[in-house]
Amino acid sequence: MNHLKDTFKHKGKRKMLIEELKSKGISNKNILDAFDEIPRHYFLDLAFEEQAYTNMAFQIGSGQTISHPLTVAFQTQLLEIEKGMKVLEIGTGSGFQTCILAKIGAKIVSIERHRELHLKAKKMIEFFNIQAKLFFGDGYAGNTAYAPYDRILVTCGAPEVPNTLIKQLKIGGLMIIPVGEGEEQKMLKIIKKNNEEYSILEYGTFKFVPMLERTVK
Ligand code: SAH
Repeated sequence: MNHLKDTFKHKGKRKMLIEELKSKGISNKNILDAFDEIPRHYFLDLAFEEQAYTNMAFQIGSGQTISHPLTVAFQTQLLEIEKGMKVLEIGTGSGFQTCILAKIGAKIVSIERHRELHLKAKKMIEFFNIQAKLFFGDGYAGNTAYAPYDRILVTCGAPEVPNTLIKQLKIGGLMIIPVGEGEEQKMLKIIKKNNEEYSILEYGTFKFVPMLERTVK
């Protein structure tokens, strides 16, 4: 954890990143404010501190990466979150997006399959005094204890849309999930109309780490 200091330099770079996000279509003020409130460099190794506010992904351990800031902002904007909504996140990773979602008023349940990352993210959540329920587990199972969810966010590339997750989505709810078999995925927004009908919208091509089954201790 790199939460030694949040200097003027960090703050300045953060403002510039926020301007970049705005210029690339992120218009939701709550999201932009959350990016200002949650210093991204705290989630990175010291080695990446200088670049923390560039639109890049970085290694966070266990062979995983923190998503590009624009990807985090883009997925979060697609989620159309209203205060108090129950959100299930698959792939806690660094916990950065979990914190952003909590800041904009979501009640978050988040699952990570790597124990090491899960434990690190827990520390970050505590550090920021953020209320979120983090679980070590396989996201393919979702979390029935808190279902159904208003929103489901998948932050890893899924080979297909997992049925278990669709089941845990409220009617009228929506899921944002990158879907694709290979290195690239299509960002999908799935709206659950009723138990049989869904509408699917597509939002471009992305590169996520894969959504894999089973946990890693
Ligand atoms: N939003 C996070 C993204 C991390 S990358 C961030 O910016 O830090 C995606 C994460 O999904 C990785 O940490 C990976 O371990 C996790 N993941 C992959 N398959 C999973 C599964 N089946 N269940 C839970 N987490 C999974």
